[in-house]
Amino acid sequence: MTFSSLGLSAELLRALTEKGYTAPTPIQIQAIPAILAHRDLMASAQTGTGKTAAFALPMLQRLSEANGVPKGHVRALVLTPTRELAAQVAEAVRTYGRYLKLRSTEVYGGVNINPQIKQLRQGVDILIATPGRLLDHLQRRTADLSSVEMLVLDEADRMLDMGFLPAIERIIKQLPRERQTLMFSATFSAPIRKLAGRFLANPKSIEVARRNAVTEDVEHSAYRIDTTRKRELLAHLIEQQNWQQVLVFTRTKHGADRLAKQLDRQGIESIAIHGGKSQNHRTRALERFKRMRVRALVATDVAARGLDIRELPHVVNFDLPENPEDYIHRIGRTGRAGNSGNAVSLVSPEQRGGFSAIKRLINIDIPLHTVDDFAPTQTSPAANSPAGNRREKSRHRPRRDHGK
Ligand code: AMP
Repeated sequence: MTFSSLGLSAELLRALTEKGYTAPTPIQIQAIPAILAHRDLMASAQTGTGKTAAFALPMLQRLSEANGVPKGHVRALVLTPTRELAAQVAEAVRTYGRYLKLRSTEVYGGVNINPQIKQLRQGVDILIATPGRLLDHLQRRTADLSSVEMLVLDEADRMLDMGFLPAIERIIKQLPRERQTLMFSATFSAPIRKLAGRFLANPKSIEVARRNAVTEDVEHSAYRIDTTRKRELLAHLIEQQNWQQVLVFTRTKHGADRLAKQLDRQGIESIAIHGGKSQNHRTRALERFKRMRVRALVATDVAARGLDIRELPHVVNFDLPENPEDYIHRIGRTGRAGNSGNAVSLVSPEQRGGFSAIKRLINIDIPLHTVDDFAPTQTSPAANSPAGNRREKSRHRPRRDHGK
């Protein structure tokens, strides 16, 4: 995927090349065409995903294309929670827009308002502002928002946390109803959805994992193990560590079916979901998993993508993902909302290269343990019931073998 295939203009492409960006990030791939098509957008993305360019590039392009708009009227407004972010966004807009004839400025509190007033008087196309200081300008009538065509709410969740909702409401009242609104937030919490419901029209929804970074609440570990012994080790870990709810990833549909059947036969209640199963089956499987009627949900990446499972304690990469980025998607389901999570990868000798690629991507040195003599898991009647399965930990623990 290239920036030019996303429909960006030559001026923007030139600036991006100079900046050294070679390919768009996942959020840019999804957001740029939607914004160019005038869609409203609700994007869940954190800092580090490339979210600023995801809205700044198509914003610059749209503003530079439109004809007949009087120069110097604020046509795009970006609201940010902090002055640091406002400054950062303004810098990005200037960098990407260096070959376009658009003017931008930032206004935020804690500094003298007069130079900002002067800037605004000279006319700007793009205004980046924190809500408090912008209200101040509106009261002084030193800013006019009646020509705004695009509104961006950046880090909307943080703005709500900081108590900016009343200020945002007052600002939005001054904007034309006919406009494009883009909202970025680290999470899609209930207050954020409510905000989106009030101010966005039929938005496209985008959710991406953090690029090259994962939540700090996840403990990563890996076991070196031959493919033929993976199932045995997985069953052992589930039993020995008394996991009650584990999401297991396999690469293929067939692999998911087979593994779920084998675990089930061993007394670990399991169910498989993948693209080959009906929506009905997937919904029911998920429901049973959430209610802890089954202990293991075995899934392929595609099937798991749309699942709304939060705060899962354990995620296992039975097969490593084909694409290292998918590791982040997979483990994004654990360690949420301040709960600690556990991500375990089973690495066969031929997967060592893929394992290194994942470590490089997330920039974490995942310890690779060697397992020798773990006790084969026995079928026990009690194992059929998750609640009745609190047996003592086996003495045969996998040997921790750091650094290998
Ligand atoms: P953000 O998520 O907007 O805070 O961006 C995080 C960092 O990624 C910033 O330093 C950007 O300059 C950089 N960045 C954004 N898009 C790209 C890209 N397509 N390729 C490389 N770096 C990028």
